[in-house]
Amino acid sequence: MDFPRCDRCGDAGCKIGEPGKFKNCPTNVSEIKREEIIERYHDPETQALMQTAAKVERGTLQPVNGVLTPIRPRISEIMAFADEMGWKKIGVAFCLAARDEGIKLTKVLEARGFEVCSVICRNFSMKKGEFDIPKEDCIKSENESVCNPVYQAELLNEAGTQLNIVLGLCVGHDMLFTKNSKAYVTTLSVKDRMTGNNTIAPLYSGFFTEILKKY
Ligand code: SF4
Repeated sequence: MDFPRCDRCGDAGCKIGEPGKFKNCPTNVSEIKREEIIERYHDPETQALMQTAAKVERGTLQPVNGVLTPIRPRISEIMAFADEMGWKKIGVAFCLAARDEGIKLTKVLEARGFEVCSVICRNFSMKKGEFDIPKEDCIKSENESVCNPVYQAELLNEAGTQLNIVLGLCVGHDMLFTKNSKAYVTTLSVKDRMTGNNTIAPLYSGFFTEILKKY
């Protein structure tokens, strides 16, 4: 099988209903039929999410002086999405480093009428040594506390949250949280210690200039 490589496509013809000119277009690389994928979207739950996503997008892009303009931020979109889905109970899985934002977010959610459950990453005060993390991979020692994304997810599962919001979790911990969460997960922000959580800033700066010379 050829791999899909949309990054190497010249014209993104799919945007105007004309995909497939490029050998590595998803249209050309698999035996899976278009109709089979459409059928997947007819699953009632999947359909509800897709229809809600469209409705939320439409609600965000409103005409302002004749120009379609985003009129609300992602936090408001998440709340609008939950409203449309009939979700009343929302979980927030936040990092210690994003505690201030987590507190503000939960206040906003509650003010909008949602029932909120929140779990910080350091719950249970787990130590790195308890997870057999080698000393050389600890910042100071195996006794330092470590994030506990599995329990973050399990507590929200027990609480019966209908949607979980990730806020500032570390790379890897976010994966474990998502894998263990029973409710759908949406990400409000991820941790990027260097850029103040502006994860794609390095793509706009010269940060990767040297490595790209090898491309
Ligand atoms: S789907 Fe096909 S047409 Fe669209 S960007 Fe990918 S390769 Fe290009």
